[in-house]
Amino acid sequence: MPTRPAHQTPISIPHSTTSLAQAPRTVLLASPRSFCAGVERAIAAVEQLLADRGGPIYVRKQIVHNTHVVAGLQTRGAVFVDELDEVPPGATVVFSAHGVSPQVWREAVALGLDIVDSTCPLVAKVHAEARRFAARGDTVVLIGHAGHDETVGTLGEAPTQTVLVQTEADVAALAPPDPSRISYLAQTTLAVDETADIIAALRARFPAARGPGTDDICYATTNRQRALAAIADETDLILVVGSTNSSNSVRLVELAHRRGTVAYLIEDASQIRPEWVRHARVIGLTAGASAPPALVDDVLATLRQLGPLIVEEREITRENIRFTTPTPLGRDLDGSSTPPARH
Ligand code: SF4
Repeated sequence: MPTRPAHQTPISIPHSTTSLAQAPRTVLLASPRSFCAGVERAIAAVEQLLADRGGPIYVRKQIVHNTHVVAGLQTRGAVFVDELDEVPPGATVVFSAHGVSPQVWREAVALGLDIVDSTCPLVAKVHAEARRFAARGDTVVLIGHAGHDETVGTLGEAPTQTVLVQTEADVAALAPPDPSRISYLAQTTLAVDETADIIAALRARFPAARGPGTDDICYATTNRQRALAAIADETDLILVVGSTNSSNSVRLVELAHRRGTVAYLIEDASQIRPEWVRHARVIGLTAGASAPPALVDDVLATLRQLGPLIVEEREITRENIRFTTPTPLGRDLDGSSTPPARH
């Protein structure tokens, strides 16, 4: 598990700011927050490989979307690449938690790479749905964000039958070959409320559309959004710890904005601006599923520099989900890894 980032720098709090803050501030800590089971599993896979084999261990794309996690693993011997042609023949490559398309699997096998698949099981579930829906001859509507690693992988399961929609306007523009044969899926890290609206628009246009409702949005994304919604109305300001390319972190900020609360996405405590917090008496604090818990501790430590702080944890549910750490796939006699039968 990554620990506190080495380059953490505390913010400088002007004296005028501290003197304003003699009465205690309150921080409402949304819970659950921070790492989910899929992120912990993916990071553990790389850490285990580094411990067992030493570096370099190649990872295709960011293992999870967090700058600190990636930097921490890099210093220990992980090498992050965008594509497989950057990986030496026969080397170990880890697929990230966001999953990959069958085409990437085929390339990795053709290159004789030693594959460790850390695709989150909940992303893999969406891939399985894509294959199932495509196999029954449906047009598969994938609700998601263009270019995100997860949607790129899911689209690759049935590329000629799948269309990506990002908005209700995209739904209005759909022109499937058979409107009575529509299935839909969703990226795991979307906003539950916005996705429900898109699904409603899809069902209004195509009453026969079949799909899992908003169930593709994973438990961790859903819980973090619910936990944030539970505190949003009580806060003057919400801080969300996460990276700018972390979908579920960005969704948390957007959700706070929709609730009418000022909110900022911060990589770490060093990005807190004194003017944000100067007049805030109640600050909401949460973290996206790929943000290490230590970064939240750093934020609390920094806020304590402003004066007395009351920290109140607001837990809406307890998460007990754990996934087993993925291991390298078996190697065939020809030296190639053995992909799952579906590939
Ligand atoms: S956010 Fe959800 S889908 Fe993504 S890794 Fe975590 S549990 Fe898996």
